Amino acid sequence: MKALVYHGPGERTWEQVPDPAIEQPTDAIVRIDSSTICGTDLHILKGDVPEVVPGTILGHEAVGTVVEIGDAVTTLQAGDRVLVSCITSCGRCRFCKEGHYGLCTGGGGWIFGHLIDGLQAEYARVPFADTSVYEVPGELTDEQVLFLADILPTSFEVGVLAGGVQPGDTVAIVGAGPIGLAAVMTARLFTPGRIVAIDPAHPRLEKALEFGADLAIDNSSENAVERVQELTDGLGADVAIEAVGLPETFELCADLVRPGGRVANVGVHGHPATLHLERLWIRDVTITTGLVDTFTTPRLLKLIAEGRLDATAFATHRFPLAETMAAYDMFADAANTNALKVVLEAATVAQEPLPREEALVGHDA
Ligand SMILES: [Zn+2]
Ligand SMILES: [Zn+2]
Repeated sequence: MKALVYHGPGERTWEQVPDPAIEQPTDAIVRIDSSTICGTDLHILKGDVPEVVPGTILGHEAVGTVVEIGDAVTTLQAGDRVLVSCITSCGRCRFCKEGHYGLCTGGGGWIFGHLIDGLQAEYARVPFADTSVYEVPGELTDEQVLFLADILPTSFEVGVLAGGVQPGDTVAIVGAGPIGLAAVMTARLFTPGRIVAIDPAHPRLEKALEFGADLAIDNSSENAVERVQELTDGLGADVAIEAVGLPETFELCADLVRPGGRVANVGVHGHPATLHLERLWIRDVTITTGLVDTFTTPRLLKLIAEGRLDATAFATHRFPLAETMAAYDMFADAANTNALKVVLEAATVAQEPLPREEALVGHDA
């Protein structure tokens, strides 16, 4: 099969690799029908995630079709359409039993395109298949559910839920990239009083308004803290969600939040940020961080199936899976291309294939 392989910092190729095979009885093999690229993949390519070894297939977000199951898999069968999420769950360790799948110590957690081969490929081996994939309701398209593989549960759990967004709240969201926009979208589920999007890039601020933000602030030309204080009787935001991952955006969130408010950090940080405890302690500010657990994925899937949530607007670009290299070039240049998420689509000819076993039998015969 073909896959996008990481060969060390700055090096990636779309190349022929061996087909994945069942290694554990709890594995399934999934044909990738739609995949996507994440900002995290770009971090890996910069060399920021050193545990990713050269030779690893990248990608941790996909919708696909089960083509083979291990002997211990009981809830899936060949032909099932599934969402393959960024988080895998062994289902047996202490953290999985507590719903903290992101912290799984039994071999799960964030493993795709990180510790094992990922999902920007024609096929993938999915460990702990019974407890890690989500069946896609037949009436939903790949694009309707693809962004549940990472950004929606990430922003919902680590931003909106950890931040404790309540009806009527003023929610300040710093960063209007895919994660910030997913926070805008999922914060609305709680009917906040006002969502304020803060970003220096105007195309992103326009997107934030389209996604449901009430106010957009360009913090390169305006003082965001003063603007938010004006809106809130001088108090500040009830909840500030950090969706960038830079020291200055984290520190901005700490300045934006009201006394007794909450800062929910979603951004992936590569450098230390300053925590002004000398100002924050007496203001009773709560700060949370985290990796997504994906315990809300079934709920988000239901919201999409019920027509209450529509994530398709994240798909700004589409490429055939075989053109993943070009898709990376486009996605990495988001400042010019205004890319949010790119959908990598398997070739149409691969949409209705024989299950692979049958294809192999046919070949042998
Ligand atoms: Zn991701
Ligand atoms: Zn576990």
